[in-house]
Amino acid sequence: MSSASSKRPIPKLAGVCGWPIHHSLSPVLHSWWLKQLEIPGAYVPFAVDPKTAVEAFRTLKQTSITGLNVTLPLKSAAFQSADIATEDAQKLGVANCLYKSRGQLVAHNTDLEGFIAPLIAKVGVERLQNGSALVIGAGGASRAVMGALLSVGVPEICLVNRTDSKAEDLVNQVNVPSLYTVPWARRQEAVERACLIINASAAGMSGKPALDISMSATREAALVYDLIYTPRVTPLMKEAQAHGLDTLGGLEMLIAQARPSFKLFYGELPPKDLDPTEVLFEALKTGRR
Ligand code: NAP
Repeated sequence: MSSASSKRPIPKLAGVCGWPIHHSLSPVLHSWWLKQLEIPGAYVPFAVDPKTAVEAFRTLKQTSITGLNVTLPLKSAAFQSADIATEDAQKLGVANCLYKSRGQLVAHNTDLEGFIAPLIAKVGVERLQNGSALVIGAGGASRAVMGALLSVGVPEICLVNRTDSKAEDLVNQVNVPSLYTVPWARRQEAVERACLIINASAAGMSGKPALDISMSATREAALVYDLIYTPRVTPLMKEAQAHGLDTLGGLEMLIAQARPSFKLFYGELPPKDLDPTEVLFEALKTGRR
């Protein structure tokens, strides 16, 4: 082997697993960072059948793949397949990231960090610690949102969900006094009280009905954070903006949850000013991945 080739860094391979996976923006995002940072490597989508996902993830240790992001519906299987789980993965009981460390397969979850980082950047921790939050939705994303809000000390969190029993179950599982639920039929009362309104439901996604909640009687300085990123400006955000409210969209969370994964897979944290928003927006517009 020549000295030149021995000095060349070995390209690293990582990717994202889901079922289906063709719609994922993660390959666009990670490939763009790889190119910008001139890191030799690749990031590819893997379609993994949920029926065999746990076994498939366990074989990761025998491959040269450095790590994987995991999306719906495989986050529980990823968690189950790992030898150990980080604190953030344990908090949520699901993993969106698998990587190898000292011969062990590690389950991690970057959604907590991904959700809270843009929010803190926008309003600061102090404002979060001095106001109440309303979380809409009781699925996987809602768990990450609540975990993150509790970890920064938001003093009052109200959870509403179209199916009341799911919100009640989630509140009972988490079991902290600052978290409570109100019935879907009384959701407007919850909107009026909240300083921060978070849509962690699937309502308002392209092709789905808009969220059936009005922003006409919110607090004056309320912030509306919609986790959805297709479309980039959701009907909820549009309505909030029409009432003069500040908004935050889901693309920021998508980028913020990807940054720590990139560091785990390729060893470098993409600088915050290396902003892929426009590249992602273009991919959403054209449908090209
Ligand atoms: P999920 O586990 O399938 O949960 C979906 C939730 O949406 C449930 O609470 C469901 O209520 C509610 N819902 C669906 N249609 C509704 C409607 N028409 N009106 C009111 N509520 C409705 O999904 P998830 O993983 O939590 O994801 C939720 C959303 O967050 C998705 O849109 C996803 O794209 C987004 N997300 C974004 C990021 C990001 O990085 N930006 C990360 C994760 C998730 P029921 O219980 O009544 O069915």
